Amino acid sequence: MTSASPTAATADFARLPLSPAMLANLQQLGYLTMTPIQAASLPAALLGKDLIAQAKTGSGKTAAFALTLLSSLNPRRFAVQALVLCPTRELADQVSTEIRRLARADDNIKLVTLCGGVPLRGQLATLEHGAHIVVGTPGRVMDHLARESLKLDALATLVLDEADRMLDMGFFEDIVTVARQCPRERQTLLFSATYPEGIAKLANQFMREPITVKVDAMHAGGQIEQRWYEVKDSERLHTVSLLLNHFRPASTLAFCNTKAQCRDLAEVLKAQGFSALALFGELEQRERDQVLVQFANRSCSVLVATDVAARGLDIASLAAVINVDVTPDTEVHVHRIGRTGRAGETGLVLNLASMKEMGYVGRIEQLQGRESDWHKLGELTPTGDGPLVPPMVTLHIQGGRKEKIRPGDVLGALTADLGYTREQVGKINVNEWSTYVAVDRAIAAQAASRLNAGRIKGKSVKVRVLEE
Ligand code: ADP
Ligand code: MG
Repeated sequence: MTSASPTAATADFARLPLSPAMLANLQQLGYLTMTPIQAASLPAALLGKDLIAQAKTGSGKTAAFALTLLSSLNPRRFAVQALVLCPTRELADQVSTEIRRLARADDNIKLVTLCGGVPLRGQLATLEHGAHIVVGTPGRVMDHLARESLKLDALATLVLDEADRMLDMGFFEDIVTVARQCPRERQTLLFSATYPEGIAKLANQFMREPITVKVDAMHAGGQIEQRWYEVKDSERLHTVSLLLNHFRPASTLAFCNTKAQCRDLAEVLKAQGFSALALFGELEQRERDQVLVQFANRSCSVLVATDVAARGLDIASLAAVINVDVTPDTEVHVHRIGRTGRAGETGLVLNLASMKEMGYVGRIEQLQGRESDWHKLGELTPTGDGPLVPPMVTLHIQGGRKEKIRPGDVLGALTADLGYTREQVGKINVNEWSTYVAVDRAIAAQAASRLNAGRIKGKSVKVRVLEE
């Protein structure tokens, strides 16, 4: 077991057997030092060992297995050499994006994402063109194996990402079936945020002398500042806006215990002029994608979500978490607060609690082994000038990967063609059919109409400003 936090020197990527191109790429991505779970897992993983790695959400597990599978990949061999199984389409998309970023040093590596809810036909065609890496959900991967549109006989690396969640979702048998179709000579990597019983059972079935590494969930505790406020139920929603106006966090994830509370809070915040979006179960996938994109690219200040809806959400720099309701489940509280204070930054957690929630607060105190830091509502005075406004606005471009649009094309159209600066352009998400680009709020309307009049990749495109 490894749980010590590495010093800067030992956490340097350069001490790993990675290619100079990969090291340069990591530098460009701003990955300057390894996260603790990367430092604990990569040395063994890069030697080809089977691995069980446990660390909380947001600790950098994706890069740990992505670097491993990329380092044993041969781009000149046209066969699937790595398979990553993920519990949901959303997570598969996130993992695909991260692997593509890490693989961009090598243009020739092809990755295919295979998830349900998308027509098989397109996937069959893409697979026929050949893929080095497949990322997918167990169900859809099984479909392709049954149709023999996916063959795993050249597989070198099998990754089970979010294994605990896949078990929760009842994928045990499917995972075993897929693993049976992989060559015996291979490396298996299992990543998980928690370590339920089923994991050992999975590992026993098809891993070879796995090394276990674990980085404690409580480890990051010191980087998180938690404050508590006592509220009456009637003042709870309004208090959220007091918190936002006082602390002015650039991006906030606000957790509610129910969907109804989410909706109410989003309405209250919007009515007060905040840029807020709500994420709850019954949104269509496309709406959900848009909400996530807008929040991640800094064109929405507050995302209001239930715990279930926020699963798998990965936002690198979250300035604050607000627990609008106290969760009765202490484990859930730990997950919620782990969303902030990542990658060495200090996180802010603001908790609202009513008298009848004090029992839950007590349990959280016990689990965290420290007393709550109570503050008075009277301290909450507006700071800064004017309302809290997100720095960016999202433009929606009709057309995506299917039209062969790449992030560089969009960046080029905005900078080289239209003369905007690199700093005025934010995150660019290219999906299958559509592209989202964040631009500086000040230029959003103008940039949208100029893009509409101009061309991307030689083609005219439809562009609109996404309303928050
Ligand atoms: P997990 O799978 O453990 O929940 P992720 O792999 O999604 O976490 O990583 C969380 C965030 O941290 C991502 O935005 C990722 O780009 C970023 N990240 C990963 N490794 C590093 C690193 N070494 N330095 C800086 N940021 C990193
Ligand atoms: Mg992950």
